[in-house]
Amino acid sequence: MDNLLNLDRQNIWHPFTSLGSKDFPILIDKAEGIYLYTSDGRKIIDAVSSWWVNLHGHSHPTIAKAVAEQAARLEHVIFAGFTHKPAIDLSNNLLTILPKNQAKIFFSDNGSTAIEVALKMAFQFRFNKGISTKRKVIAIRGAYHGDTFGSMSVGERGAFTAPFVKYLFDVEYVEFPTSGNAKNVLKEFSKLLSNDDVGTFVFEPLVQAAAGMRIYSASILDLLIKEAQANNVICIADEVFTGFGRTGKLFASDHLTNKPDIIALSKGLTGGTMALGVTSCSEKIVSAYRSDDIDKTFFHGHSYTANPIACAAANASFELLTSAQCKQQIARIERQHAIFKEKIELLHPNHRVRCLGTILAIELSTPDGTSYFNKIRRHIHQFFLSRNILLRPLGNVIYVLPPYIIREDELSQIYHCIEEYLAGLKDTPQSLGDSD
Ligand SMILES: *Cc1c(COP(=O)(O)O)cnc(C)c1O
Repeated sequence: MDNLLNLDRQNIWHPFTSLGSKDFPILIDKAEGIYLYTSDGRKIIDAVSSWWVNLHGHSHPTIAKAVAEQAARLEHVIFAGFTHKPAIDLSNNLLTILPKNQAKIFFSDNGSTAIEVALKMAFQFRFNKGISTKRKVIAIRGAYHGDTFGSMSVGERGAFTAPFVKYLFDVEYVEFPTSGNAKNVLKEFSKLLSNDDVGTFVFEPLVQAAAGMRIYSASILDLLIKEAQANNVICIADEVFTGFGRTGKLFASDHLTNKPDIIALSKGLTGGTMALGVTSCSEKIVSAYRSDDIDKTFFHGHSYTANPIACAAANASFELLTSAQCKQQIARIERQHAIFKEKIELLHPNHRVRCLGTILAIELSTPDGTSYFNKIRRHIHQFFLSRNILLRPLGNVIYVLPPYIIREDELSQIYHCIEEYLAGLKDTPQSLGDSD
């Protein structure tokens, strides 16, 4: 095992990981259900669904079977001029559960590319119509839409984007809506819209996950979308994180009355098994491209567009997701989260707790304030790992985002450990200074 980890250190550059870090990654040998099994015999609860992708547990037999069968039958085929049943089935499956205004499915590989496609679709919509104004994009403060250039451009500027800031296109921001500032946000938004150069509004509906599981109300977002669409501004919902049940409904857009024009999906799409992205759009968007004029073609595609194995995994995950059992699991997690929230609010009123659907987040009040780089992050991570629970806090925000198949007692075990951590924090609030 040490040999393997030394090879890893020599050869591999891990994401979001400092090359100066002295920590070795943890070698995972296999995974099943909510558990990750390490090569040295540990069994770790995956309480963050492996970066928010896993829905039905690891190595789910139904998905594994679908993947194996598809790999043996048709592993891949060029998707221009050719098609296949897994993609057709998936488009059909998605369009039956997406908001009714969604009319077409475009495939890519991940969340960032799903956002790139969404932005390019919106920009070329105007190009095809011969409109040269409305070039600007409005985004929400704190946004995270991915790590490619377009998706970075429409995200918040910060430490992650600092080396690239000069290469990003400018966007307009509105403040993150809260119960206190809703009126101002609306006013700010209307003011931006009154400038005819704004043509696109991109947002993470209801939850800004990367910003620390920040939750805002459906009613304010509904007003923003209504106002935007009244001004011919294309609305893009980034449901890469919120899609497939995370917020308690299949999509965060299901909490809204006014539906987005374009929706980006990835993460839970294949149940966390394969890399796949989808951008869906309304007939209004499609209509600008229905032409035999070659210049109006959407010239975008990836080598592995609509990979049949990934589509097969997504179709298998769809069957599991839309079962009555999965609905019950999501509702039960939601109830358990709500009860635990009340308990923490009672016992630890200094910390702020929020939940929505299967998401529970606790924003710890620390001397350093709220930031991704809060030193407490490492302390929390190590504490829970030593108890065989994988939590990957966003700075001082601890969150629990389990696969839906987690059992009641298993979720309680995570809560119990969080209580233990918070109780310990009370005794030693200042003693966490070791940074990475
Ligand atoms: C993760 C995420 C992305 C980027 O998806 P990748 O597959 O990591 O490229 C985009 N938007 C949101 C809201 C996300 O959470």
